[in-house]
Amino acid sequence: MPEILLKVDNLKKYFPISGGVFGKKVGDVRAVEEVSFFVNKGETLGLVGESGCGKSTTGRMLMRLIEPTAGEVVFEGNSLTNLNTTELRKVRKDMQMVFQDPFASLNPRHTVEKILEEPLIVHGMGRKKERKQKVKEMLEVVGLSSYHANRYPHQFSGGQRQRIGIARALMTRPKLIIADEPVSALDVSIQSQVLNLLKDLQKDLQLTYIFIAHDLGVVKYISDRVGVMYLGRLVEITDTEKLYENPLHPYTKALLSAVPVPDPDIQKERVLLEGDMPSPSNPPRGCAFHTRCTECMDICRTTRPQIREVEPGHFAACHLFQESEK
Ligand code: SF4
Repeated sequence: MPEILLKVDNLKKYFPISGGVFGKKVGDVRAVEEVSFFVNKGETLGLVGESGCGKSTTGRMLMRLIEPTAGEVVFEGNSLTNLNTTELRKVRKDMQMVFQDPFASLNPRHTVEKILEEPLIVHGMGRKKERKQKVKEMLEVVGLSSYHANRYPHQFSGGQRQRIGIARALMTRPKLIIADEPVSALDVSIQSQVLNLLKDLQKDLQLTYIFIAHDLGVVKYISDRVGVMYLGRLVEITDTEKLYENPLHPYTKALLSAVPVPDPDIQKERVLLEGDMPSPSNPPRGCAFHTRCTECMDICRTTRPQIREVEPGHFAACHLFQESEK
């Protein structure tokens, strides 16, 4: 029986919008709405969706880098909701993030050694000599060399900088890595090297990943299960194979049909995704996807579909599957 490492329950994030002369609150951007999922120890959960769907905000809320408006995050059986700063720092030793733009997330004035040593200093881990030794070891683990320790971020290529970003995340020996678009700023040829590195590290260090990306091909390659987000909500979640072979939600179908197939003999039915995503400050009534859905019914305009287990282990939020609602 797989062991749950992280559980998210009804997570919400509203960012207030202020306006007028006195800067009064005039509304909210509903970035994340009622998102629930779990991640098993040792697995990779992918989170996909178009830009602005709330996947990155969700990732940051897991570590409380952004405070949730409501909902709960439970890590190793302990709720993170009411932890004070000291308690939260202890937990963050076990949860680390890898960011999209390694250049922006690495201090350009610090050497690689200083960048990698910092998490150890923050968490009071090791003496100076041990820390320096750990930096050298970690550089080798991520495929760089110990002599790179004295160089600065600008002296590396994009792929190498992301390796430094990964090394920094690994310094405290975390259990969970939340990777937010970790390869989307890299050339396609470099992407697969970084993805393979992440896969190898997962096996060697028994890591669990939450992998956030908009590229469905990348997510398919690395994930055991995938959750699809639209306008702040999770609309479908299941095993990677099931999602890609038998997507249920019309939004997932549209996303997948837009992915090019390398074999010209394989004909795919193309579902066009028309229009833009509505504004999260004024989300549509009923199903959030109804303004773009080719299968929209009357009920979809008025009633929001709840996420349900349509088939064993396959959850979708869509009225097309209401007959299986309990
Ligand atoms: Fe489309 Fe209706 Fe399903 Fe929403 S609930 S995805 S509008 S069919």
